[in-house]
Amino acid sequence: MNILKDVILAPYTTFKIGGPARYFCVVHDQFDALEAFEFAEKHRLQTFVLGGGSNLLVSDEGFNGMVIKVEDKGIEILSQDDNQVLLKVASGEVWDKVVEFAVKNIWWGMENLSHIPGSTGAIAVQNVGAYGQEAKNIIESVVVFNRETHEIQNLSSNDCKFGYRSSIFNTAQKGKYIIFYITFKLSKTARPILNYRDLKLQFPEGGGQLNEIRQAVVKIRDIKFPFPTEAKKGNAGSFFKNPILAQSEFNELKARLQSGFNKEVADVLEKKKFTDNAQLKIPAAFLIDICGLKDLEKGGAAINHNQPLVIINKTGAATAKDVLDLANRVKSAVQNKTGIELQFEPELIGF
Ligand SMILES: Cc1cc2nc3c(=O)[nH]c(=O)nc-3n(C[C@H](O)[C@H](O)[C@H](O)COP(=O)(O)OP(=O)(O)OC[C@H]3O[C@@H](n4cnc5c(N)ncnc54)[C@H](O)[C@@H]3O)c2cc1C
Repeated sequence: MNILKDVILAPYTTFKIGGPARYFCVVHDQFDALEAFEFAEKHRLQTFVLGGGSNLLVSDEGFNGMVIKVEDKGIEILSQDDNQVLLKVASGEVWDKVVEFAVKNIWWGMENLSHIPGSTGAIAVQNVGAYGQEAKNIIESVVVFNRETHEIQNLSSNDCKFGYRSSIFNTAQKGKYIIFYITFKLSKTARPILNYRDLKLQFPEGGGQLNEIRQAVVKIRDIKFPFPTEAKKGNAGSFFKNPILAQSEFNELKARLQSGFNKEVADVLEKKKFTDNAQLKIPAAFLIDICGLKDLEKGGAAINHNQPLVIINKTGAATAKDVLDLANRVKSAVQNKTGIELQFEPELIGF
């Protein structure tokens, strides 16, 4: 395995931003992983496991440690019957290609998660979710390399403790595992999930063929989330999470909007609130919008007008500092005007 020095990380991220990694290697299996971790331990280096770089902001100074990029490949049907299929997918497979493959085979479950950049392994890390579906609903188990014991382990979906944009992989056990495979449980009988507002509008009668739902998701996403095919469209998806509130907190927010803005704004909040996994959420985009931040820019970075949750590398030459300054300005303005503290969704590396 080749261990490279001073590798610029910007091309490995969808923001197209970020300085060098002191060391960088590509791993395909547990033997490469062992070698990488042994090297890191010997040289007392921090490590960071990289997938497709679509949920990260890497600092302009880069990462003073070892970046381990996972590039294993392969898709295998483990078992199937008339109702379901168990599909084992290697971490390094491009996620949207896997969704496309499932849709072509008329296997239900992944379609609402169409057109999300990144690799398959990372799907389990933040329990990726979109349009009413979450990874946890289709993940049967996850095969990992444990860097402490050097063993391959099979973790059940329960072991992964999935929550809203969270799992053991980005909380309690962060850094302990490299995910090598995910087994998905997909349905052969139609299970359209169309309760999300934008999708409901596309399928007012319900129903819908699997490939029609995928196409609808792609169409909706293309309006809101610039697909990061070039530096000028660089982004990491939603930069802010949707706040989860208890009913009492929601009531306080509503009262604050009524006094700080006006009754109409407070009424719109009532309409915009939604329930997800029995949790009351409010769209962070709405808060950013009412605070008048939709056209904010800093250096080369800008809030994406069509979906203000997204920060975009507008000039293609934005720095990580531009992005973070902009994100912090949004965060403090929203907090001052609404009392809500927004949380960042992408991981900050090397800050
Ligand atoms: C345009 C756009 C739209 C997006 N839309 C959504 C959306 O709708 N919903 C959503 O949830 N996210 C969305 N995202 C965020 C992102 O695409 C997902 O979080 C994606 O799963 C990240 O995958 P990645 O391979 O790029 O991970 P990376 O960004 O490379 O890494 C993310 C995290 O996962 C860890 N990781 C990656 N691979 C492994 C592995 N094999 N083993 C252990 N840890 C690993 C990394 O260490 C890091 O902590 C969007 C991003 C963009 C750019």
